[in-house]
Order: sequence, then structure tokens, then C-alpha cells
Amino acid sequence: MTSRNDTLFAAARRHIPGGVNSPVRAFGSVGGTPLFFQRGQGARAFDADGKGYLDYVGSWGPLIAGHAHPAVLEAVSRAMANGLSFGAPTEAEVAMADYLCELLPSLEMVRLVSSGTEATMSAIRLARGYTGRDAIIKFEGCYHGHADSLLVKAGSGLLTFGNPSSGGVPADLAQHTLVLDYNNVEQLADAFARHGDKIAAVIFEPVAGNMNLVAPRPEFLKAMRDLTAKHGAVLIADEVMTGFRVGPQGAQGLYGIDPDLTTLGKVIGGGLPVAAFGGKREIMEKIAPLGPVYQAGTLSGNPVAVAAGMATLQLTRAPGFYETLAARTGQLVDGLSAAAAKAGVTFSAQSVGGMFGLYFRAEPPTSFAEVMTCDKDTFNRFFHAMLEVAPEGHYFAPSAFEAGFVSAAHSEADIAATVAAAGQVFAGLAD
Ligand code: PMP
Repeated sequence: MTSRNDTLFAAARRHIPGGVNSPVRAFGSVGGTPLFFQRGQGARAFDADGKGYLDYVGSWGPLIAGHAHPAVLEAVSRAMANGLSFGAPTEAEVAMADYLCELLPSLEMVRLVSSGTEATMSAIRLARGYTGRDAIIKFEGCYHGHADSLLVKAGSGLLTFGNPSSGGVPADLAQHTLVLDYNNVEQLADAFARHGDKIAAVIFEPVAGNMNLVAPRPEFLKAMRDLTAKHGAVLIADEVMTGFRVGPQGAQGLYGIDPDLTTLGKVIGGGLPVAAFGGKREIMEKIAPLGPVYQAGTLSGNPVAVAAGMATLQLTRAPGFYETLAARTGQLVDGLSAAAAKAGVTFSAQSVGGMFGLYFRAEPPTSFAEVMTCDKDTFNRFFHAMLEVAPEGHYFAPSAFEAGFVSAAHSEADIAATVAAAGQVFAGLAD
């Protein structure tokens, strides 16, 4: 019997490049036909054939409360009944700005936008406008959305400025981006020693979640803060993924980071398009209409999207929310590690709050180079077998190089079911 996923994918490819509206959805890395989802409820999502999966993607992070949470749906319905958009100020966005500044002590002012890409692109422009410098530092394997300055790979020599990693990005622009190794303190110090007076900003993921999951070394976080402060560069914590995902104050609360600017997205929209950038008042006041750095958006601070985000953030304030989320995510990575060990599969896993990394290598990686040594083929077999295992599927990110997410809707029994299924799958992989 043909799956409706196949029929839809064939139809999708007629008018949508690659059949998808964002590339990683195409299963290019794992092979096969992407699932087309038609419905989600709590920890589960159901595909076009009606088959259910325990979902460990959660729309790539936003769905910390699970799919279709009643409180979120109700807030959205209430907001929707009053009209979808005004392109003028509304009370809801004031409440959200106040709430974000209350929750994250490093935020004195915040501007709402509609995607993580807009947030990071705007933060970079602001840092350049504020410092009057052009160069930025990013780290290999960190993803900050698809703005031109950020689609850059390392230059040919150590500490040389970068080259475009995408067609359509001018080399003239890429040459202002220096791409360094995550967690490498010496290289960062060296870069500042050579180019310190040219560097407008360092942008980083405080837990790297776009090269599977790489945890930050405390000395790396400290070096970034010290060096940017010493050289007058802006430190931008990209918390689009980690914000309100790894703890009640994001990664900055967890690790005691004090960034100049922070970017947020995903959880703060609860599944609708809300993102933000904010930080020190002195820097934020350079944004139009107060200052000379331009930034705008027809749908920025959209009342319906903000309603979903506020309702989601309020759910995360329930007593014990993050303790339970971290415990469940820990249960998953410990369970999977034990199941793999029992089956004799080389595997490791770790979690930070509600996000996790699975690695087909003996130890969790601490650098991009180590991530690249994971056994991608075995991951791909694991991925497909977990989709197909009975009685229900288990949906992980369709790439060996993405972090995974647990929601508050995942029960202990759900995680146990995934671990039990993985036990069977690992036994098959060891053959
Ligand atoms: N920064 C980080 C750390 C991200 O993980 C992402 C998206 N995965 C982005 C920025 C871009 O966000 P968006 O996809 O909403 O543009």
C-alpha cells in the first residue's frame, strides 16, 4: 500500500523546491520520504497515514508544553477573536517585553521579531552600528539562522576571515566573519590579539544545538565574556534554542553568563512566529526609531503569536517544571545509553535541561571535529528503525547533527516506551 506521505511528497515537489519549506525537513541526510504531519496531541504527532509517533523534535524546540496544549490554544483563540494583526502597538506585546525582561536579568530592553533569523541578523547589525566595526566572530557548527553574514565557513588558514558557505552570499561580506572552533579558548584569545580592534561582536550558542549537542566549557564562556569586554566587542548569546529550554533563565541562568545582547525564539512563540533580541539599554537605544540602526517588521509582535508565546512561558513557570523536564530528558539519555551498552552498540548521549544529544561514538563530543566522527550511517539506521518499530513510532530529528527535545507532555511511561523500543532497535543494529 502506498503511504500518503509518499503521495504528498510527490505532490509537494511539483511546486515547492525539494518538496519542503525548510531544507532539513527533506530527510536528505537520513534518506527516505519525510513524514507529513496532520495532527499533534501532547507528546505525540500523527502522520498523513494516521500513524502516531512519540515526537522528540517538537517543531525543532518551540513545543516545550507539547502539541496542542489547551491553555495555549485557548489563549490563541481569545487573541484571534479580536483580529489577527494591526501593524500598530498592542498591549500584549508590552506585556511580553516586560515579562522577558523580568525573566532574564540581562535584558533591559527587548524588540520582538518573527523568526530566529531576524533576531540574530538584527543583533549583528545592531552590534556593528553600536561599535562602528564590521568584523564578527562565530563558531564552526553553530547555526544562527540564514542571514548572509552568518552563512560563512572557516577560511583556508587558521584565523583567516571566512568564505561563503551558501551560494548567493558575497565573498566581500563573508570576509568580515571570522569562524573559530567552539570551546577553543586559545584560538579565541589569539583572534582578539590580532584583530581585537576590528571585532564588533562574538555570537555563540551557549549550548551548541545545531551540531548535535555540544556543551560549553566554563573556561570558554568566561574567555568570551572577558575578551569581548576588554576589546569593546558586543557579546551576543544566541538563545533561540536554549532560551527557556535548558532552564527558567535559559543557558545564561544555568551557566551564569552575562551577555550584552541575547536572541530568543522557538519557546517564546510556543509554536507561532515570535522571536526577540534584547539586552543592554545603551546598545538597544541605537535601534530605530531611537537610534540610527534600522530594523522593522509588518508582523513583529503579532498579537496572536504573542498570545501563544505568553501562554507557553506561563506554563513553564509552574513549580518544578524544569526539574521534571530535566529528569525526563535525563531518563531518556540514560535509558538509551544503557540499552545501547546492553546491545553492544557504540553510543553515548547527554542532556541539558529539556534538550539532548545522541552520538554514535563512545563519548559525547566537545568540539565540531569530534561531532564529525559520529557514525552517521548507524544513526540513519537507528532513525528509520525507530520510526518503524511497533506499536508506535518514535520521531527523532532527521539528521545525526541535530539536538533533540523533550516536552512537559512526555510522561515517564512515554520515555520508558521509547527506551524499550530502542532496546529492540539497538539489538538489530549490533548484528
Ligand atoms: N539560532 C539558533 C541557535 C537556532 O537554533 C535557530 C534555528 N534552529 C536560529 C537561530 C534560526 O531561527 P529561525 O529558524 O526561527 O529563523
